[in-house]
Amino acid sequence: MNSLLKKLIESKSTSDVGEISCARVLADYFKSAGLKPKIDIWDKTRANITVQLKSTAEKPAILFVGHLDVVPADNPEMFRPLERGGKIFGRGACDMKGGLAASASAIVELAKSKTKLKGDIIFSATAGEETDSSGIRKFVKSFNLKNICGIIVPEPTDFELVVAHRGLLWLQINTTGKSAHSSMPHLGINAIDSMRLFLNELSKFKIRGYNKLLGKASMSVNKISGGKASNIVPDYCSTEIDIRTVPGQDIKNIIENINDIIHRIKKISPDFQAQLNILRHAGALQTDINTKFVKELTKTLNKEPKPVPFTTDAPYLTALNTPIVVFGPGLPALCHKPNEHIKIKDLKTAALQYKKIFMHLLK
Ligand SMILES: [Zn+2]
Repeated sequence: MNSLLKKLIESKSTSDVGEISCARVLADYFKSAGLKPKIDIWDKTRANITVQLKSTAEKPAILFVGHLDVVPADNPEMFRPLERGGKIFGRGACDMKGGLAASASAIVELAKSKTKLKGDIIFSATAGEETDSSGIRKFVKSFNLKNICGIIVPEPTDFELVVAHRGLLWLQINTTGKSAHSSMPHLGINAIDSMRLFLNELSKFKIRGYNKLLGKASMSVNKISGGKASNIVPDYCSTEIDIRTVPGQDIKNIIENINDIIHRIKKISPDFQAQLNILRHAGALQTDINTKFVKELTKTLNKEPKPVPFTTDAPYLTALNTPIVVFGPGLPALCHKPNEHIKIKDLKTAALQYKKIFMHLLK
């Protein structure tokens, strides 16, 4: 399992190179146990991998879904895995090649031991979770197995059994104006001034949305850029806003509210020009904790279901109409960090826990 994780880290899977080599590493690993993985390739470099451990099918299947891609790293050394002090360091060690390695190794071990199971295990690792979510959307579209008892997403939760998280909506607002020499600013239209008008109005806007388990929806303005030089009236300014939503919150309303702000300012200041773009949207997750699957996992793992502050690709899987939990090794705080790592002890524990789940639910 450790060497599998190292190979996965080495097979860089950032958005600029795609997921294909990482998918092949997993495929070879599954093939070594006599399994028949399938790689789905598109746009030359993008890939999903799926493998199924067959059973007598007397019971419904368990589905594992993770992601192959990682965020970029400033230091190229992060793609050379390093084992030190009982930890494996590298990009993706925690988010989430560790979880992939642990779940894949639990499945391979079962396959090699020829353990008779009454329900299938399906494992899929998909492309683009950190960027366009293209892999999971493709996977959900083509997935046609009906009889599943639940889905486990082996993202790093430090072994918390996660059933709920907020969704996200990333918006970009661009204001445009007209350049001029700033000794004669009246000849131009200052895009930064326009942005100031927008941000002033936005600060009066309170984002609504509350969930008993997850708390309030939130909004934060996180990026701003514009202007070319000290003596040029800027014709362009851009800002990015991160909105976190609660389950059931309609993003259409939020977008409408923000567009209303733009229209309101335009009425008062005819020179004001602004445009709203959606950069990214991911749904919130709320799995019913009274489903049989969650209850069985609570018992098997001796863990209470919990919410978390970060988001995952899991809400895309709600289309499959089955309970979803996020449960995996690694500290969420280490995701995307320059010192990203995972404890080898945690990898082992995760593989054992996944095996325990298979034995309890599928034997
Ligand atoms: Zn992740």
